[in-house]
Amino acid sequence: VTHLIQTATLCRSVSLSEQTCHLEFRVDGTDEFPYKPGQFVSVREPLIEGKQVTRAYSIASAPRAGRFELCLNRVLEGKMSNFLCSLPEGSQIHFRGPHGLFTLREPLRDSMFLCTGTGVAPFRSMLQWLLADPSRHEGHELWLIYGTRWETDIYYADEFRALDQLHPNFHYLATLSRGSHTWTGLRGYVQEYAKGIATSRPNNGAGTVHAYICGLHHMVNHTREMLLSLDWDQHDIMYERYD
Ligand SMILES: Cc1cc2nc3c(=O)[nH]c(=O)nc-3n(C[C@H](O)[C@H](O)[C@H](O)COP(=O)(O)OP(=O)(O)OC[C@H]3O[C@@H](n4cnc5c(N)ncnc54)[C@H](O)[C@@H]3O)c2cc1C
Repeated sequence: VTHLIQTATLCRSVSLSEQTCHLEFRVDGTDEFPYKPGQFVSVREPLIEGKQVTRAYSIASAPRAGRFELCLNRVLEGKMSNFLCSLPEGSQIHFRGPHGLFTLREPLRDSMFLCTGTGVAPFRSMLQWLLADPSRHEGHELWLIYGTRWETDIYYADEFRALDQLHPNFHYLATLSRGSHTWTGLRGYVQEYAKGIATSRPNNGAGTVHAYICGLHHMVNHTREMLLSLDWDQHDIMYERYD
């Protein structure tokens, strides 16, 4: 029942960069916490002079008994993000959920997962889940196109690289918009690589490929408009905006 407020205990807090943290929670009092990859929780805490603040965070891990993980950025002067990133291990949070319709479409198609920054969170959940069982992804090409400014902001790179090596049908592309001269990987914006993949397909991938987009509205809108301009059906483009 998703309207109930539950509590969870922070088991592990890891900083992924200066402004980003990875948090692992155990739901209190139960091993049951079913959700679909891509869904989010609403964290609710009395942060402003006792007044409740509620913020959504995508779950960054595939469903596992009574556990979930988050990946979040400290937003400048942001109430909840700074509270959570500074939270000591062992602390309790209040939350509702799981919520949200940003989930994998069935039947699965060849799929592009397009994100920037912590927008990778729901895709870590989806891809962990999909790639855990051949029957979930066999016969389909999957691309994770992950854009950030700098190399230090590519989160979970080792995990995605390992999955890329293990699964010939999973392709991990990390691209930097402001990479230093030592960066030898891809450069440029997510939508350019998404366009490259779409246009390499018959009919620009329209009707045969799904796109999932997650991040700040600017990137989501640009990428969506690019695919619509290639005659994609809007129903084949799923998106989640963080702001
Ligand atoms: C469905 C959904 C899922 C989300 N999942 C995640 C997630 O997995 N990881 C994550 O880091 N965030 C996620 N967000 C964003 C998150 O809910 C908060 O908006 C964010 O953490 C800021 O909250 P805050 O209380 O710290 O800042 P606030 O006190 O609300 O805001 C402080 C200032 O920062 C600006 N601001 C608000 N959000 C952002 C932002 N995301 N980036 C830059 N500036 C911002 C505001 O305009 C405001 O001026 C998600 C949002 C939605 C709607």
